Amino acid sequence: MFSSPTITSAQNNYKFPIIYSEAFLEHDTGTYHPEKAGRLTAIVEALKNSAIAEQLIWQEPTDIHSRKQSGIDILQEVQRFHTKAYIDSLQAMTMMGGGYIDGDTIASVNTYDVALLAVSAWLDGVDLVLESGRPAFVLARPPGHHARAHTGMGFCIFGNAAIAAMSACDRKNLDRVAILDWDVHHGNGTQEAVWERHDIAYVSTHQSPFYPMTGHPDETGAHRNILNIPMRSGAAIAEYLPVFTNQIIPFLQDFQPDLLIVSAGFDANADDPLASIFLKPEDFGTFTQLCLEITPKIVFGLEGGYDFDSLSQSVVAVVEQCLKK
Ligand SMILES: [Zn+2]
Repeated sequence: MFSSPTITSAQNNYKFPIIYSEAFLEHDTGTYHPEKAGRLTAIVEALKNSAIAEQLIWQEPTDIHSRKQSGIDILQEVQRFHTKAYIDSLQAMTMMGGGYIDGDTIASVNTYDVALLAVSAWLDGVDLVLESGRPAFVLARPPGHHARAHTGMGFCIFGNAAIAAMSACDRKNLDRVAILDWDVHHGNGTQEAVWERHDIAYVSTHQSPFYPMTGHPDETGAHRNILNIPMRSGAAIAEYLPVFTNQIIPFLQDFQPDLLIVSAGFDANADDPLASIFLKPEDFGTFTQLCLEITPKIVFGLEGGYDFDSLSQSVVAVVEQCLKK
């Protein structure tokens, strides 16, 4: 009798894709802004120093000129959600050296180009996951889930997750795409973008009452395609687990998405300076495990998370879980 190997060579060779560019560091919000470039460099360093470093493949996002040559105009993709007036005014602001979009949302001289590249990276995530049938992580900034159709908001410039979901339905002909947003804040912009879409579901857990004060359970979308689950200040994994197993997972199983996009913010960590939820980095590994039971076709994309250490360890926990599957 021969014992059969438990891991096939195909699984052995599997490398988890991280879509990342140093260009994402050039969205300059200044030294004292929580959403700063150091977040990404901390995550990159943690991944490269982790036990899974050899199992990662680092991929540059498609630059917007190459994208145009292959027939995809990134500006048209962004206009799936945002108004041309907002896009043009952002470009004009950055050409003048930058400025404040709102009280805490900064555009620097490179922000317009970097934000377009971030959208491109999220679209690469969609394409990669649909081709491989396996998850990928988009390590980009600026984040997106607060950005509204006509303006940036709450550190967010373009609605990356919403645009990726709309693009997946319209450009890749998917029937159903779900977005799970476990950032500690409600993704008011994403919700606004997909409100009328019968083919896109949006599920959010968020601290409540809290910025941006949206995400009440009564907000269910035009087709009951939205599920909002407010969490009390001080909640920890003991309160999150039943929410996942009794509400989020059944909702997603019922929706049967062809693709799952995770707005992966990590500001619900206990150590995060901006919020008051008490999750630990390994809890995001648990959430990932539950999501993988819905579908392996998951695009994880970075949203918030402002404590560098717990942020980095959370990303490692998510990727580790994907590699176990
Ligand atoms: Zn957040």
